[in-house]
Amino acid sequence: MQLRNPKLLRSESYFGGIWHSAENNHAFTVNNPATGKGIIDVADLNAIDAEHAIAAAHKAQPAWAALTVKERSKLLRRWFDLIMANQDDLALILTTEQGKPLAEAKGEIAYGASYIEWFAEEAKRVYGDIIAPPNNSQRLFVIKQPIGVVASITPWNFPNAMLARKAAPALAAGCTFVAKPAKETPLSALALAVLAEEAGIPAGVFNIICSSSSPTIGKVMTSSPLVSKLSFTGSTQVGKTLLEQCAGTVKKTSMELGGNAPFIIFNDANLDLAIKGLMTSKFRNAGQTCVCTNRIYVQRDIHDTFVEKLTAAMESLNTGNGTADGVNIGPLITTKAVAKVASLVDEAVANGASVKYVAKVNTNPGDTDTHFYPPTLISGVKNNMQISREEIFGPVAAITIFDTEEEVLAAANDTEFGLASYFYTNDISRVWRFGEALEYGIVGINEGLISNEMAPFGGIKESGFGREGSKYGIEDYMEIKYMCLGGI
Ligand code: NAP
Repeated sequence: MQLRNPKLLRSESYFGGIWHSAENNHAFTVNNPATGKGIIDVADLNAIDAEHAIAAAHKAQPAWAALTVKERSKLLRRWFDLIMANQDDLALILTTEQGKPLAEAKGEIAYGASYIEWFAEEAKRVYGDIIAPPNNSQRLFVIKQPIGVVASITPWNFPNAMLARKAAPALAAGCTFVAKPAKETPLSALALAVLAEEAGIPAGVFNIICSSSSPTIGKVMTSSPLVSKLSFTGSTQVGKTLLEQCAGTVKKTSMELGGNAPFIIFNDANLDLAIKGLMTSKFRNAGQTCVCTNRIYVQRDIHDTFVEKLTAAMESLNTGNGTADGVNIGPLITTKAVAKVASLVDEAVANGASVKYVAKVNTNPGDTDTHFYPPTLISGVKNNMQISREEIFGPVAAITIFDTEEEVLAAANDTEFGLASYFYTNDISRVWRFGEALEYGIVGINEGLISNEMAPFGGIKESGFGREGSKYGIEDYMEIKYMCLGGI
């Protein structure tokens, strides 16, 4: 990997302001999913290391919270500036460990950094309340205080942004932060720690611990009395396990979990706009995002035209190594992920769905052929097929035909998930009626790209709770304290 700033590639973990090998000197290998080859061996931390990291964060928290909001804000701003100054290198690290095309990786670095910039400002906008008292001898007021030490576990699909989206509000609020990135993608997290240190964020405030055994680290984080909150992004299944584990110490939690996004195109929609939105929402990160379109519902009259237009659009997809010129779809994260996508398509086809288009994969010598799944279009999908029930997490567009608004609303809401949803229509009454009736935390209307730092991101139902970004995001890292002053 040719980095302009080679210091960004680290193999030790960072806590208490010091770079650490594992206590037992173990290490694990981080692989490039496009080539299947090892990039670097990273320190493999254990439970003892995790306890030390949490203790360091706990020790640092009072002094961090005691800084003025302007001082915290300045440090966050400096971190943001350094991230943007190193955007190209951070993107290359991200593509090498995660697979997404370089242009998309650069976009993720800017997207993650935007949360740090935003919360550097929001740190200054934490307000309390003064409440009318029930009698004249009292005054009632409400203040907000940092929760304390925040532990965090993040996934591989956005190794930079999912971390930045949590660390930024936590640090802005006056909390300290210990995160465990996914074992597939620890390098982006460690690079963020290099820049946090360079920005002057004090020792113990931002800590990254890498491990090949997430259950071990998860158990320490969820049971430690020094940790006041767990902020998790990942699958619903793991989220449920962590929630159970947090019950023992009654921790606050934020859960950004899985999705099963419907993308609905009504007869009256602007089809070209819908295709553009679908291409972004379906194929970004090779289909491996929690807000990726999972189920495409097309109204019967426009189905054939829609399939034609979507096929034409999919012909522009160029699948290969994310560092190669012109590639806009990278590999999937593991061979297991490829097998899962293949089995979902096979099951749908075996039950009557038909394959309309399969794109080519354009790998180069040195790339593996076991991590790529060709962008595929299938139609005739039914709501009871596995491909409609589970997150596909791959570049497969699966179309279901519908007739009426009532029918498609029932189908769209017929899932335990409730993260993102999308629909396209030019009927203004339907925009409100349908938007309000969708049981999702996020609704894109005539728009396929919905996430930014200014808007609240998060789900309902089994997609979790808590919001990231926006004016609401910092609240998840603060406690409300009510004070009653008597004797006036
Ligand atoms: P995952 O298997 O749940 O893993 C997520 C994180 O949890 C990783 O760091 C993983 O570590 C860790 N982990 C796994 N088992 C654990 C355990 N028993 N105890 C503690 N930690 C554990 O999910 P994934 O497949 O990596 O990520 C994709 C999922 O994340 C999808 O469901 C996607 O929808 C969801 N997601 C949600 C959002 C959102 O904002 N709602 C955003 C992005 C992704 P290791 O990998 O090192 O084992």
